[in-house]
Amino acid sequence: MAGRCTIIRTVVEHEVPVLIVGGSLVGLSAALLLRWHGVDSLTVERHTGTAIHPRAGHFHLRTVEILRSVGLEEAVRRKGEQQYHPDGGINHVESLAGKEIANYFPNLNAGVDEFSPTVRLFINQDSLEPILRARATELGAKLRYRTECVALQQDSDGVTAVLADLENGKRSEVRARYVIAADGNRSPVRDRLGIRMRGHGLLSNSITIYFRAGADLGPLLKDRNQGVHYVTNPMLRGFFRLDRSGNAGFLVVNLVGDISRPEIVAAFPSAPWTRVAEGITEQRALELLRAAIGVPGIPVVIENVATWQAIADGAERYQDRRVFLAGDAAHVVPPNGGYGGNTGVQDAHNLAWKLALVLNGAAGPELLTTYDAERRPVGDLTVEQAFTRYVTRVAPYLGAENTQPLIDDISMEIGYRYNSPAVITAGDDDPLYEHPCESRGRPGSRAPHVWLEQHRTRVSTLDLFGRNFVLLAGAKGGAWCAAARGAARDCGVELDAFQVGGAGIADVGGADLKDDADSFPAAYGISETGAVLVRPDGFVTWRSEADMGEPQKILAEVLDTALCRGGRRGVSRLRSG
Ligand SMILES: Cc1cc2nc3c(=O)[nH]c(=O)nc-3n(C[C@H](O)[C@H](O)[C@H](O)COP(=O)(O)OP(=O)(O)OC[C@H]3O[C@@H](n4cnc5c(N)ncnc54)[C@H](O)[C@@H]3O)c2cc1C
Repeated sequence: MAGRCTIIRTVVEHEVPVLIVGGSLVGLSAALLLRWHGVDSLTVERHTGTAIHPRAGHFHLRTVEILRSVGLEEAVRRKGEQQYHPDGGINHVESLAGKEIANYFPNLNAGVDEFSPTVRLFINQDSLEPILRARATELGAKLRYRTECVALQQDSDGVTAVLADLENGKRSEVRARYVIAADGNRSPVRDRLGIRMRGHGLLSNSITIYFRAGADLGPLLKDRNQGVHYVTNPMLRGFFRLDRSGNAGFLVVNLVGDISRPEIVAAFPSAPWTRVAEGITEQRALELLRAAIGVPGIPVVIENVATWQAIADGAERYQDRRVFLAGDAAHVVPPNGGYGGNTGVQDAHNLAWKLALVLNGAAGPELLTTYDAERRPVGDLTVEQAFTRYVTRVAPYLGAENTQPLIDDISMEIGYRYNSPAVITAGDDDPLYEHPCESRGRPGSRAPHVWLEQHRTRVSTLDLFGRNFVLLAGAKGGAWCAAARGAARDCGVELDAFQVGGAGIADVGGADLKDDADSFPAAYGISETGAVLVRPDGFVTWRSEADMGEPQKILAEVLDTALCRGGRRGVSRLRSG
């Protein structure tokens, strides 16, 4: 932004470690997660409050795991179950009353218990955001509504932002060490930084029709679980999200008209069927809705029609010095697969602990550059996979030529991996994603879920992560635990160390964990003398399959690397992943 914005010098009214521009799903998540790590922030949002449209509804395993880690899983699930069936399905029909074309998820949660202590859920974004906001403010985050960030200027120590109060027009300056731009797919911050978007571009000018029906639509689904229902027929292509009552929800329309015949597609290169939003009237919306329901004359009331653009693009970089792009500002995807909001929450989760440790001096500033190194490849992959789902479920006329093969949902949700200087990987075989049955604690992957017992209570390994570094050692790995504590003390970072399944030693800073099923070593790919180090975001940063000798020296080097402290001494010998 420097060079393109003129800052009118006034007295800096406020200083804050992190300024968050945009207070929707991702901005609120960032505010919450930063406070979770003890970092103050100010979030500015130009609207008067949280989202007013349902938009995101399908929340993936990883996002629910993040919510669980900050104590929100139950509250979110309770709210979601008021709105949607907990095991809703995702399928494809000619119309709600018509023939089934495909059944993508007969039950949203079939088979997930092997991988996670939690399950996927549906909750509308306009119900989730107030829960995030309440938790963020409870933890001490500051939010300012009707406030727009109108300029940013970076220098070597921080960023000066000009904020406009949209109620009275007054301007003020805020000084921040870092800025998170969670300002949505049109991201003014990204534009002013000159960061370009690249990808498949605009796919359609879509609409969402919010409606109430005079009858329960549930029985039309027969034995299909209520949830998301893709519709393809000669009038339209899109999807329903039907709430639990069965007589309300929304219909997204991405394309109109019969484009099943290749000669029609070939005759109109300007793709007029993508211009759904142009000149949309209530009468036209009613026709489309009735065609999607498939029951002529069914009584329905249109409550609202929102227009929006389906786009599949990612930013060419996620960082400009002290400013980080997160959420739709960094990647914008069509809603197929429910990736947009989920990916944004995961961006905030990756960034929050890094900002906390850099701000408190425990980590080197280079740790922040790993945000782009880790999240952008995942964002790019997500853009492609959302595009693949858009093409296969909605717009097959776009063809398979520029489309990645479909990656299974579990691998997309919890199998993405990070390769960056802060992760000590094997170096020669570092795939960007892997099914969790394959990765098994490989450095760069999300640390696997295993049920253990602590103080006679069942805990998931995932319940140990979220705030501090965590060292998990095998049953005979007590030396790793003691060494890890010492190394962490020397670095000034908080670390919890646990011996899993062994007799335990007294001074490892946490009760040891029982593993009666002996599942932990195989799940984490180590022997009983090995250990793994897990970051505060629950990703494995280093693993030693067995005892390597000199545990204190090794762990000091590992932590130096994980914190980008300029160490990296002998990293190659640490690579056993
Ligand atoms: C129909 C539909 C269905 C969807 N379904 C799903 C789903 O099932 N799962 C899923 O994960 N995602 C889904 N999404 C996508 C999801 O809604 C978005 O990815 C998500 O809203 C992105 O959140 P964000 O905070 O990054 O951006 P936004 O929600 O766009 O918020 C950006 C905020 O920044 C504010 N802002 C912008 N500029 C400034 C400024 N200069 N100063 C102050 N404030 C500013 C804006 O007012 C806005 O509130 C769906 C989207 C649609 C349209």
